[in-house]
Amino acid sequence: AYNHVLEIKKQHLSPVATAYFQKPLLLHQGHMEWLFDSEGNRYLDFFSGIVTISVGHCHPTVNAAAQKQLGRLWHTSSVFLHPPMCEYAEKLAALLPEPLKVIFLVNSGSEANDLAMMMARAHTNNSDIISFRGAYHGCSPYTLGLTNVGLYKTALPSGMSCQSTMCPDVFRGPWGGSHCRDSPVQTIRKCSCAPDFCQAKELYIDQFRDTLNTSVAKSIAGFFAEPIQGVNGVIQYPKGFLKDAFELVREKGGVCVADEVQTGFGRLGSHFWGFQSHGVLPDIVTMAKGIGNGFPMAAVVTTPEIAKSLAKRLLHFNTFGGNPMACAIGSAVLEVIKEENLQENCQEVGTYMLLKLAELRDEFDIMGDVRGKGLMIGIEMVQGKMSRQPLPGDEVSQIHEDCKDMGLLLGRGGIYSQSFRIVPPMCVTKREVDFAVEVFRCALIQHME
Ligand code: PMP
Repeated sequence: AYNHVLEIKKQHLSPVATAYFQKPLLLHQGHMEWLFDSEGNRYLDFFSGIVTISVGHCHPTVNAAAQKQLGRLWHTSSVFLHPPMCEYAEKLAALLPEPLKVIFLVNSGSEANDLAMMMARAHTNNSDIISFRGAYHGCSPYTLGLTNVGLYKTALPSGMSCQSTMCPDVFRGPWGGSHCRDSPVQTIRKCSCAPDFCQAKELYIDQFRDTLNTSVAKSIAGFFAEPIQGVNGVIQYPKGFLKDAFELVREKGGVCVADEVQTGFGRLGSHFWGFQSHGVLPDIVTMAKGIGNGFPMAAVVTTPEIAKSLAKRLLHFNTFGGNPMACAIGSAVLEVIKEENLQENCQEVGTYMLLKLAELRDEFDIMGDVRGKGLMIGIEMVQGKMSRQPLPGDEVSQIHEDCKDMGLLLGRGGIYSQSFRIVPPMCVTKREVDFAVEVFRCALIQHME
């Protein structure tokens, strides 16, 4: 049966979507932070379907809410109202600071960022949009212009992606002293290992200012940033950098967009939204992935003023956005995050894991860096701590595959796919972290042999 599945995939499914492992996993069931394959093997899920399972696979409260709604009403289209939509809007708005109170419901992160780009342009009457090197904001033709990481740096014929978007080379990461970024992990060689990063804030903000001043960027509409870059391998900005960047963009008349698709809903532990950990207040916030715990759902939240500007300029319509199923599920997700103190769990278990991984990093020369916040953690694999060259892809793949064979699923990230990404469901426990760290240690030992 397994070979039949592979054959169907080969014949009928997108060749662009890659299966992660040499022997692709065929997953049948999920329960909270665990996944089960066709042969009944279980895996601790530390990638959460790409940072999407927020409260746990098939969480009973979310399942119950979905089942209740399933028997009532599935779809109305966005030209009608229904109770789950109003209930959800009220709950989500309560979680955002003033004046971020107007919600647009859509279905995916790319759609959310597409809409945010339109809002920025409609509101400012400008055209240029700025994002960072290493950013991932989506894969639609419009957002591809914003995305600028590794393989996603596409060479599509001109006109296919958003031409007025610029991705300035202002953010390099990823090494840095612990005092340079918001992290409980001590770096081994502190600043000395990363002069570029430690002087980074000033250096990058100067580059950023230059970019804003270039002739192409005379009319800034918006600036997009992930509070921590996800796909790029969990990259944190130097402290204070985002705050200064926001100020510069606003001086030029642009609006600031926080892409919370990976960082939102409490995952970073200290705050519910990633932007709060930078002390900034965006004009627009986009969210997806964890918002629906795996059900397709996304949102853009903005100010009444920006919402009005959009409404004046164009009719925005989305058939499925805010459908009853998504809203009922979204409400249940918010309820679970609160009831089960999952944000606090991210803080506690995430800090525990960061410290455990930092111990491991001191043992293994190929573990270059451990970084992150809450339950969004990255491990940079290198040839050695002195060279800081990325570990070749096939070696990273082998470690990745070995972890999977021992029952641990990790994510990958970074320009060379050299980093591991650790983003488990927010309900993960310290005991499971101990198991995962031990599996990772065994895979590294196997690699050294
Ligand atoms: N923004 C960020 C930060 C993301 O990580 C992603 C997806 N990886 C997106 C936007 C796009 O989301 P989607 O795949 O739902 O379109």
